[in-house]
Amino acid sequence: MNEHGDRDPGLSDAPAEPPSGLVVPRFMGPDTFARLPRLDDVGRAAVAVVGVPFDAGVTYRSGARFGPAAVRAGSKLLRPYHPALDVEPWRVHQVADAGDIVCNPFDIVEAVNAIDAAARVLAGRSDRIVAIGGDHTITLPLLRALHHRRGPMALVHFDAHLDTWDTYFGMPYTHGTPFRRAFEEGLLASDRSVHVGIRGPLYSTRDLSDDAGMGFAIISTMDVARRGVDDAVARIRERVGDLPVYLSVDIDVLDPAHAPGTGTPEPGGLTTRELQAILRGLDGLDLAGADVVEVAPPYDHAELTALAAANVVYEYLGLFARAVAR
Ligand code: MN
Ligand code: MN
Repeated sequence: MNEHGDRDPGLSDAPAEPPSGLVVPRFMGPDTFARLPRLDDVGRAAVAVVGVPFDAGVTYRSGARFGPAAVRAGSKLLRPYHPALDVEPWRVHQVADAGDIVCNPFDIVEAVNAIDAAARVLAGRSDRIVAIGGDHTITLPLLRALHHRRGPMALVHFDAHLDTWDTYFGMPYTHGTPFRRAFEEGLLASDRSVHVGIRGPLYSTRDLSDDAGMGFAIISTMDVARRGVDDAVARIRERVGDLPVYLSVDIDVLDPAHAPGTGTPEPGGLTTRELQAILRGLDGLDLAGADVVEVAPPYDHAELTALAAANVVYEYLGLFARAVAR
């Protein structure tokens, strides 16, 4: 076995895995997500983890362009068995790191189109994509690429913010507007999407009425605090039904105490544990794709935010693996 943990390819068709943390210490070895093999080395994968280091769409603090590297660094401690979901996320099928999508940091429209095009190519090499942002602008082209394959989806969107605003300074493509654009483009199934973790000040009541008019439901952070995780899970499941589901986690859904490294922090958020519990409650849904966005390492402390985001990706990989193991 070399530092990549490669075995003799003639011995088995089992997925290529990360090196064992008992053989290659976890602070050594490949700098891919969870030290997984690179997609180019395995050719094709059931799940491709891809970085999208774009943050030119932010309205406040920048820095999410460094998110993919920080989340990969934060993923080194992950281990192969997920006890809560009783699954081995990268042993039941091939999971690989597809590297980063290259896009223009100065031209948002060009970047959005490049992300869409790259995601479509990647969809030809993998069954599902997990994207690591980058700011929330990147979710629009990822939804476009997935819509091409799956049709209208239900969005389960974890965020302190609605992200259904219209424009900022006249600009339609920003990290505060992806879901209004997705609604306008018909990427989402009508009245089947939900925001989870909403809180904090708005511009006016119209933000809420516009959002409701586009067919989004809201489970606020205070709803989770008062009615609990199980109630939130039940409401999400009822909302999305049997539609293909896209999961988008803006890491600012977590309280700044749990995720300080982000661009638009809002006090009073979910705990990392609540987010994990809700995600695990989505086992069995038809999960089409997922992302975690808005990790801004320059504002992080003790890797709190990067570790949280790496564990969100681990939850996604666990859910995808459960779908195969069933
Ligand atoms: Mn947000
Ligand atoms: Mn967001």
